[in-house]
Amino acid sequence: MTEHTARERVFIVEGRPWKDAVIAYLEPRSPYRPWFIGEHIRNGDVLITVLDTDPRTVLCMEVAGPSSLDAIGVTESWTLATLPSVAAFEACAGVAVPTAAGRVDDDVAGRLTTPFIKCSANFDDPFTRQGEASHTTAAAARVLLKSAGKCTACGETIDLRGSAAREGVHIHTAENGVDQWNYYGPAHDWPAVLCCRCQTEMTEGGFSTFLDYRFSFHPSCPRCGASQTRSASIGMPNPGEPVPPWTVPLGCVVTDPVPEWICGGCGYRWAT
Ligand SMILES: [Zn+2]
Ligand SMILES: [Zn+2]
Repeated sequence: MTEHTARERVFIVEGRPWKDAVIAYLEPRSPYRPWFIGEHIRNGDVLITVLDTDPRTVLCMEVAGPSSLDAIGVTESWTLATLPSVAAFEACAGVAVPTAAGRVDDDVAGRLTTPFIKCSANFDDPFTRQGEASHTTAAAARVLLKSAGKCTACGETIDLRGSAAREGVHIHTAENGVDQWNYYGPAHDWPAVLCCRCQTEMTEGGFSTFLDYRFSFHPSCPRCGASQTRSASIGMPNPGEPVPPWTVPLGCVVTDPVPEWICGGCGYRWAT
């Protein structure tokens, strides 16, 4: 599908509560049923999912395949990985997103599918640029979606299959949105999703920020004693991926000796 045609019926799906919805989105075997449509879905219907975050956000568009009463089959899907606010989505679509779940009027249906094809990589979202908006549920949902269900601290995959999954993922938002991070800039904190083990360690260890906790995985600087040691790695960061402040990509051309650690306080480099 390149453009929506009037023959398709378009529906707004509410994903709520948002944490269950992101978990069920990341883990299709989740027992959660956070999707609300309010109407019977047919093969070929187009579903646009809006989360009940504050502010509301747009997650994905799907084309329904053969479906049962309990589960909707999906034949095609488009995800907005940046989880734009409804306002940013509307700015791209040029029409308002209906506030309630259900079928969308045919005269706006086509425009609501446009952002998935035209703006999916690049939403100009004034909301995500505002520092004061960093601790909203919309920001938390973005952090969880971006984690893909992996613990930001230890890297382990968090089991999202059980009914207790929502208690098993701990979301930390930070002033620095994931996309705005500049690892040369001052390191205050970093948005993270933690498994229960890391969450307990961070709480019991008395760390006030996730970044302090993550730096505790590394040795302190032998020269200045700072606990801001970054692990060095050879290679380039993935384009578009923010570089976590506890790592330093050295690029592909590295001159000897290759350091293992680089102090974020004084710049001292060493290998253990
Ligand atoms: Zn962990
Ligand atoms: Zn140092």
